[in-house]
Amino acid sequence: MNILVLNCGSSSLKFQLIATDLERIANNKDARLAHGQIERIGGAGIVTLIADGKTSHRSATPVRDTKSAVETVVRWIASETSGIDEIKSLADIHAIGHRVVHGGERFRQSVLITEEVLCGIEDCIELAPLHNPANIKGILAAREIFGGIPQAAVFDTAFHQTLPEKAYLYALPYQLYRRHKIRRYGFHGTSHRYVAYRYRTILNLPREQVNVITLHLGNGCSIAAIKGGNSIDTSMGLTPLEGLVMGTRSGDLDAAIIEFISSKEGLTVQEVETLLNTQSGLLGISGLTNDMRELLAEANESGDRRARLAIEIFCYRASKYIGSYLAAMNGAEAIVFTGGIGENSAEIRRLICERLSWLGIELDAQLNESFTGGREGVIGADAARLKVYVIPTNEELLIARDTARLIGESKPSG
Ligand code: ADP
Repeated sequence: MNILVLNCGSSSLKFQLIATDLERIANNKDARLAHGQIERIGGAGIVTLIADGKTSHRSATPVRDTKSAVETVVRWIASETSGIDEIKSLADIHAIGHRVVHGGERFRQSVLITEEVLCGIEDCIELAPLHNPANIKGILAAREIFGGIPQAAVFDTAFHQTLPEKAYLYALPYQLYRRHKIRRYGFHGTSHRYVAYRYRTILNLPREQVNVITLHLGNGCSIAAIKGGNSIDTSMGLTPLEGLVMGTRSGDLDAAIIEFISSKEGLTVQEVETLLNTQSGLLGISGLTNDMRELLAEANESGDRRARLAIEIFCYRASKYIGSYLAAMNGAEAIVFTGGIGENSAEIRRLICERLSWLGIELDAQLNESFTGGREGVIGADAARLKVYVIPTNEELLIARDTARLIGESKPSG
C-alpha cells in the first residue's frame, strides 16, 4: 500500500510517500518512495520534490493555497518525470495520513477521518488556532483531490493523553479546567512514541518495561517521561510554548512577565505571545540565529559571548528537566536523544549530560562524537547507571504505519 503522509502548516507543506502495509510493518520493510516540501504557500513558493534514489526537483513557483500545494505534490508524484515506478496514476496512492497538531482530550490515538472526526478536530481549533486550521485545510484538499480514499489523523498530543491528573493540571482555579479545558496536553507525541518504540525494539523489551526519558531537540524542543511504556509527564503544555528553551520559543517563564513586557514595551498580550514564540529562545538570547549549528559555529569559531550563553541556557534547562523527570519517575533506565540537535550535536549532548554524573548519567566521549547523521545506538559509558541513546526520529513512518493499521483493522475480516 502506498501512503501519502502530509504535514500541513500555515504556510508550508511537508510530505512523504511511504510504501507500507501490515506485512511490511511486521518485517520492518517499509520503504520511503518520495519526500519533500513546499514553503511560502500563499507567496513566492519554494518547491522541493525528491524521489528517493531517483530524481530531485527544486523550483520557485507561486503556490496559491494548501490545495494547490497538495495538487503540485500529487501531480509530480504521478508524473513520469518523478520516476517513481510504483505510482502510475493517482489510483496508486491508497491512503493519506495527516499529522494533526491538537487532538485535545478527545483523541487518545490515531483515527480514520470521518465527518465526526473532522468536527472533533475543528472543536480543538480553540486550543491550536494556528495549527489545526492548516491541518483541516490539508484534509479537505486531499478529499477534493482523491475523493473517498481512506484518510487518517495522527495527533501530536495523543501519546501524552496518559499523563495523570497531577501532571496535566496547572495550579489554577479548577473551574478554568472545567470550563476551558486549560491543562497540559504536550506535543511531539509521535516523535516521543516512535523513539520509545525503537528503544524497546533494540532491547527486545515488552512495552510495559520501557522506562525512559526522551528528549526531542529540534527547532521545537520537548522532553517526555515514559514509564511502563506510557507518557507520564512532558514539558510542553497547553501550547508548545512551555518547557525547554527552543529555537525561537522561550519555554518556561514567570507568567507575570507577560504583563510586565506588555506595559514596559507597549505591546498587546497577543504581541507579547508572538514575541515569546518567535523572537525568544536561542534567537532571543544570542541576537543572532535560532539555528543551533550556526550558533555552535559562532560560539566556537568566533567566540561570540551571547551565542555561548544561549547554548549554556539551552543545555542547563534540559539538564534540570532530566533531573526532575528522574524524580517524577522514581528512576529510569535510559535517556534518549532525538531531533535535529539531539541526533547530530555531540557537543550539546555532552553539555547536557556533564552535570548529571551524580544521577548516573555519563557519556562515552568517543562514541558520543561518532553519532551524527542518522546513526542509532548507545553513547553512554558502560559503567554508568543510566544508559544514553541516540535514536533518530521518524514521525512520518509512524503516521504511515498508523494509517496502514487503521485501514487493516477497518476491513471486515474473512
Ligand atoms: P524541526 O524541529 O523543524 O523538525 P529539526 O529536528 O530538523 O527541526 O532540527 C533543526 C535543528 O537541528 C536546527 O537548530 C539545526 O541547527 C540543528 N542541527 C542539525 N544538524 C546539526 C548539527 N550537526 N549540529 C548542531 N545542530 C544541528
